[in-house]
Amino acid sequence: MYIKFWGVRGSVPVPGRETVKFGGNTTCIEIRTSDGQLIIIDAGTGIRLLGLELMKGDFGKGAGTAHILFTHSHWDHIQGFPFFVPAYIGSKDDSGNRLEGRCNQFHLYGASDVDDRLEATLRGQMEHFYFPVDLNYLSAQINFHPLAGKNIQIGSATITARRLIHPNGVLGYRIQDGDKALCVATDCEHPSDGNLDKNLLELAQDCNLLVYDSQYTPEEYNPEAHGMKGPTKIGWGHSTYAEGIRVANECKVARLILTHHDPLHNDAKIADMEKKAQEAFPATLAAYEGLVIQL
Ligand SMILES: [Zn+2]
Ligand SMILES: [Zn+2]
Repeated sequence: MYIKFWGVRGSVPVPGRETVKFGGNTTCIEIRTSDGQLIIIDAGTGIRLLGLELMKGDFGKGAGTAHILFTHSHWDHIQGFPFFVPAYIGSKDDSGNRLEGRCNQFHLYGASDVDDRLEATLRGQMEHFYFPVDLNYLSAQINFHPLAGKNIQIGSATITARRLIHPNGVLGYRIQDGDKALCVATDCEHPSDGNLDKNLLELAQDCNLLVYDSQYTPEEYNPEAHGMKGPTKIGWGHSTYAEGIRVANECKVARLILTHHDPLHNDAKIADMEKKAQEAFPATLAAYEGLVIQL
């Protein structure tokens, strides 16, 4: 399995000199299965750059197929979609109907028990108030697939989705390809009783790579627990590298990737968080735009 990070920021894009090292684009991860299927997790602004890269191959000719798994439909996970050029590539007949076999094909997955409005949300952000091109005018073929708790198969990969803890819900994903497993858990926190989320433990068990929401430092998340004053982030639906390490240890995860970096954290801050995490769990990396991992 090949994994490439195109957007690693949470909440809002933050371009600028202070974020050059880790990057300012919001969530998007490219995954290639061992049999060559393309899976994309989320369509934050990072998907724009992925789209430009894809245009150099089959997608530039209207002959590409990709599966986009949405964790949820908060802005930082959908806002890049209208700028995803491969969605505009396809041939239509004189009546405007897409010509079969000559359009890029996109399969979009969202949760029926988290947000059955994935289609409505993507359509809504392309209404003329916000964007000049309506979803219906995209030349590629867009197919929506609500996920309803059952595993799905994409080529050699089996995809398991579970609901995690986040305002209005979010899906975590486990992608199992042969004996390799990737777990992506962004925008999540744990129950307030101090236990780890059982759904996340199920997804992450024995995985080779856990990509985990590390938006806050433990001190930012819960200042009082660290003898500090300040506003708490409990209940905001995000987590810390320390919780990521707890999950990694509990689930015997081989490698941990910290992602969904806070827009207030510059490169130096994220590097400091990465260093602290590595002291407790050496096989940790803070995700950056362009990071490639081969499982
Ligand atoms: Zn987010
Ligand atoms: Zn969110």
